[in-house]
Amino acid sequence: TDPLSEVDAEVDEAISHELLRQQSTLEMIASENFAPAAVMAAQGSVLTNKYAEGYPGKRYYGGCEHVDVIEQLAIDRVKALFGAEAANVQPHSGAQANAAAMAALLTPGDTIMGLDLAHGGHLTHGMRLNFSGKLYNVVPYHVRKTDLLVDMAEVEALALEHRPQLIVAGWSAYSRQLDFAEFRRIADLVGAYLMVDMAHFAGLVAAGLHPNPVPYADVVTTTTHKTLGGPRGGVILSKQTLAKKINSAVFPGQQGGPLEHVIAAKAVAFKLAAGAEFADRQRRTLAGAAILAERLLADDVAAAGISVVTGGTDVHLVLVDLRHSELDGQQGEDRLHRIGITVNRNAVPFDPRPPMISSGLRIGTPALATRGFGAADFTEVADIIAAALLPDFGADDEAALSARVGALAEKYPLYPHLQSGGGS
Ligand code: PLP
Repeated sequence: TDPLSEVDAEVDEAISHELLRQQSTLEMIASENFAPAAVMAAQGSVLTNKYAEGYPGKRYYGGCEHVDVIEQLAIDRVKALFGAEAANVQPHSGAQANAAAMAALLTPGDTIMGLDLAHGGHLTHGMRLNFSGKLYNVVPYHVRKTDLLVDMAEVEALALEHRPQLIVAGWSAYSRQLDFAEFRRIADLVGAYLMVDMAHFAGLVAAGLHPNPVPYADVVTTTTHKTLGGPRGGVILSKQTLAKKINSAVFPGQQGGPLEHVIAAKAVAFKLAAGAEFADRQRRTLAGAAILAERLLADDVAAAGISVVTGGTDVHLVLVDLRHSELDGQQGEDRLHRIGITVNRNAVPFDPRPPMISSGLRIGTPALATRGFGAADFTEVADIIAAALLPDFGADDEAALSARVGALAEKYPLYPHLQSGGGS
């Protein structure tokens, strides 16, 4: 029998319910994905038992000969994947990668610039209640009101005025590519470091479907669990000249023992990300987002006051603009939840509604592409979503749309080797 169910029926049951939820619904949270079974096998391994403070070859604990091999594989693979000079694969999460990178480059009280959270930035790019907003003097930049694209003229003007030590380029809710060369030019104008947080689009970069920030930035941070499709965690890539500072900012600066089981899972994910199947997934991810944007820009949806932020997408997500519709973000999220599609409501730039309600939906395609969805499936999903957001959506529609969602979920079985009876 299953060891978890024997020891802890309550946790086992909740895990098996979660497995069933993942299998039977359509996951469209833009920051989520499904880690391959091989990644989960590494993460669920005996490596969880090992202390390994330090770095490969320079540990503060004995018995590190095998985790050294693993961590070095992860480092070498991620460097090769993105063409980076140096890599630290120990950050426990994306937020910790950013905290360590900033600690390496800055002194508390220094000035940083980042995309405003309300305009698509991340908490760690300078939000008031986050470490970044507390430790550093934050000058946020914004998107333009006219086209909702990052306002590079404002970035330049603010940089010249405030002379930041660091400019952060990256986003959590934005559907276009950033101009890394222009960020580099502005950073050089004022002698600032440039840090790109590619957490969301790293998988697209790995597949060669999005410009690579590594040649432009001093430091590039990422998570490993979004488009990259690996275990939850973070990575810091940098120029060789900064590697020592960054390593010491991660350990002993921020963290104690590295999670070698997660680092092993990262190594597996980096190996997979260099392959042809991964590139095909990322192509289907992009195609799916483009199909969704096109459907949500059609006349019947537009008639309900619903639109798409920036009028489309170049990446793995679509930001639905509900500023001019009766339906708000909370209601939209709830409706999709009722038919078995999971998304998150999200503030859009210049949002008139409070953040807990919001006027946007962030809808991503990475997890469904991982499941195997192709263009025809994404066309069906897009049509289901459009129907659910229209004003005449009623109880009959809910049943019919739920059935269509169920059929798609069944077409692409998820983790067939795991049974919902035994969660682990
Ligand atoms: N950076 C960006 C751009 C993100 O979108 C996120 C996650 O949402 C993070 C960093 C933080 O990652 P984590 O949730 O692993 O701390």
